[in-house]
Amino acid sequence: MNLAIRENVSLAEFTTIKIGGKARFFCSARTEDEVCEAVQFAELNSLKIFILGGGSNILIADEGFDGLVLQIALKGISTFAKKDGTIFITAGAGEDWDEFVAFCVEKKFAGVECLSGIPGLVGGTPVQNVGAYGQEVSETIVSVRCFDRKAKKFVELLNNQCGFAYRTSIFNTTQKNRFIVLSVIFKLQQNGNPKILYRDLQNYFKDKKPSLQETRQGVIAIRSAKSMVIDERDENSKSVGSFFKNPIVSLAKFNEIKNEAKNLKVIEATERVPNYQVDDQNVKIPAAWLIEKSGFYKGFQFGRVGLSTNHTLAIVNLGNGTAQDVLDLKVLIQTKVKEKFAIELQPEPVFVTTNLIYTYDFSR
Ligand SMILES: Cc1cc2nc3c(=O)[nH]c(=O)nc-3n(C[C@H](O)[C@H](O)[C@H](O)COP(=O)(O)OP(=O)(O)OC[C@H]3O[C@@H](n4cnc5c(N)ncnc54)[C@H](O)[C@@H]3O)c2cc1C
Repeated sequence: MNLAIRENVSLAEFTTIKIGGKARFFCSARTEDEVCEAVQFAELNSLKIFILGGGSNILIADEGFDGLVLQIALKGISTFAKKDGTIFITAGAGEDWDEFVAFCVEKKFAGVECLSGIPGLVGGTPVQNVGAYGQEVSETIVSVRCFDRKAKKFVELLNNQCGFAYRTSIFNTTQKNRFIVLSVIFKLQQNGNPKILYRDLQNYFKDKKPSLQETRQGVIAIRSAKSMVIDERDENSKSVGSFFKNPIVSLAKFNEIKNEAKNLKVIEATERVPNYQVDDQNVKIPAAWLIEKSGFYKGFQFGRVGLSTNHTLAIVNLGNGTAQDVLDLKVLIQTKVKEKFAIELQPEPVFVTTNLIYTYDFSR
């Protein structure tokens, strides 16, 4: 076996929130063969596997993970251009996502520019269908190459087989922990126009028509102001980004919430409840607004953790915070929001404990 497997490796340093206990076993796979070796090692030793990307969307338990943490480090980017300007670009799952976006923007390939500044690796993006500023990876993903742990073979899943929706795919719902993402093929447009649909971006550029590069810079500037870009000097970025998803509710439920909030004087009679139309029937309400209206504020402190001083949606590690501290604050926020608005906020990050990562039963 070529693969180096280490024991008792501290996981906190592999996460952006800098929290988490130790992995009993840890290895980093740079090739597809190494991924197979790691899976075999786990099976031979009856170990559970946790697949680690850039650690930007996970909260690892203080007790750590009593199994094998398999870090995906498969690199490589290749492009195939068609005469009509369509670009098919394949990226290894271990490529840094933002470096990949920078590469695409530099080459004037449109389609991922609004996803600038998001931490993590390419392989993590299909898992929660990463999205920001009006763009989602599902808009450009053609297919995802995976190792299927159930069938024990390599598979190529087409876009329509991935079950993409808001912050969702089969990888984090029905088929959780079944597929190990190895590479992703994107379809981009050479010299295409940037997507300036989101209000924040429209306000930023006003009447100007930005280039792809300007759009990337604008997105990073807006994100930096909210500490939504990882910066070692910015304590607020010791987080997992947005801790809660923006709830999507029916129009009827939205009106109910609005009226109830006015009756309870949670909001003024004339106050507008911010919302974005998802389709004819549903609207999305910003979770940050619900949190603020429930008594929380930027810079709210809760022992060793708190809310970012730049964004109420981010729970930050203020120093020696633990996973339990984060979970306690999560419950407090969910409880208060539920009391005021009868909405249960759903967390965005994945909670990693030895017993909780599996929803899929692998017969070994
Ligand atoms: C400051 C900050 C800002 C953020 N902003 C955004 C944002 O704007 N929009 C957004 O959507 N997200 C955002 N995020 C969340 C996060 O960056 C993304 O979800 C990212 O794609 C996670 O990738 P990762 O490689 O870090 O995955 P990890 O955090 O390592 O893992 C997340 C999940 O994906 C699984 N996984 C990772 N790689 C693979 C693989 N190769 N195969 C199979 N499963 C895998 C893991 O097992 C885990 O379940 C933000 C996070 C931070 C810290």
